[in-house]
Amino acid sequence: MNRCFDKEKKAAIRAVTIASRLCTKVRSVLVEGSTMVKKDRSPVTIADYGSQAVICRVLRDTFPNDPIVAEEDSRELNKAENQSILEEVVRRVQDAFPDASPRQVCCWIDWGREENAERFWTLDPIDGTKGFLRGDQYAIALALIEGGVVQLGVLGCPNLPLGIHSSQEAGGALFVAIKGRGTVQSDLDALRQVPIRVSAIATPAQARVTESFESGHSDHISHEEIARYLNVSAPPLRMDSQAKYAVLARGEASIYLRLPSPETPDYREKIWDHAAGSIVIEEAGGRVTDAFGKTLDFSQGRRLEGNRGIVATNGQLHDAVLEAVAVELGTEMQDRGTRKKDQG
Ligand code: AMP
Ligand code: MG
Repeated sequence: MNRCFDKEKKAAIRAVTIASRLCTKVRSVLVEGSTMVKKDRSPVTIADYGSQAVICRVLRDTFPNDPIVAEEDSRELNKAENQSILEEVVRRVQDAFPDASPRQVCCWIDWGREENAERFWTLDPIDGTKGFLRGDQYAIALALIEGGVVQLGVLGCPNLPLGIHSSQEAGGALFVAIKGRGTVQSDLDALRQVPIRVSAIATPAQARVTESFESGHSDHISHEEIARYLNVSAPPLRMDSQAKYAVLARGEASIYLRLPSPETPDYREKIWDHAAGSIVIEEAGGRVTDAFGKTLDFSQGRRLEGNRGIVATNGQLHDAVLEAVAVELGTEMQDRGTRKKDQG
């Protein structure tokens, strides 16, 4: 029998709702100098730290024994040169928790430094930081994992309208999925929840492909080849963050491709970049695997060590898409072999 995870759902929705409000507020006053550069050079914002602090705080209140595996930690934030950023993070967190002190905020952020366990939460406080800074899509992504399998996922998408063609100006969308119980969409306050389903498209040629906006995060050229092989004529829908999973779950795209970028062929996907999004699609009737058709295994640490790339579809198209991916990967291997021979 499927469990209902009522207590978990309530806490996760509350956490993501508070974080989404915090991010929206920071975005609206984003000024020069409020970002800094991490070692991996991805921009980190006040909202990123604030979001992680409030979410860890809410989770720890309700589930004191659950480990949290999250993207950020407070090391950079604690450096003297970042004091003004820390002060700003604290100010934003105080909108939700008025008594929060700088020490507490760093401590809450660092609750996210734990290790995978039989049961744990995984969090991306802002997925798609580049989209956030550009004013495009980003997501707050939280998931509960048990036995390496995602049981619950909540995705807050503050810049995503409730329908891609909707005239709604702002407001955002929230997605909640529970294993065996479907996916619902609502506004960011989780009011007016509506069940969503993937598209009913059965012919690949009619499908719309979604992929990263950033060309460095996946292989756009191979994606184009795959789309050609499948006779897809619509241009790809390029979007940052796990908002891609959300638009596929509600039928606005039918194929999500994420083949490793040629610049980073050995890249392993991070668990928090896919946990919440994958259950949002599966519970809306779709399928998510890696590029070789393997189930995503969330038990291997902070990264999906046993998987390469991501392929998600409305389910009906999955086998056809995997076949096209296999053809493309095979061709690519041959090309590389030829190149090696030419060089040798
Ligand atoms: P997206 O917005 O879908 O392009 O994905 C954003 C996520 O891509 C970030 O949260 C990063 O963790 C992740 N990322 C960073 N570098 C790479 C890479 N070389 N390949 C795949 N994903 C990456
Ligand atoms: Mg991310």
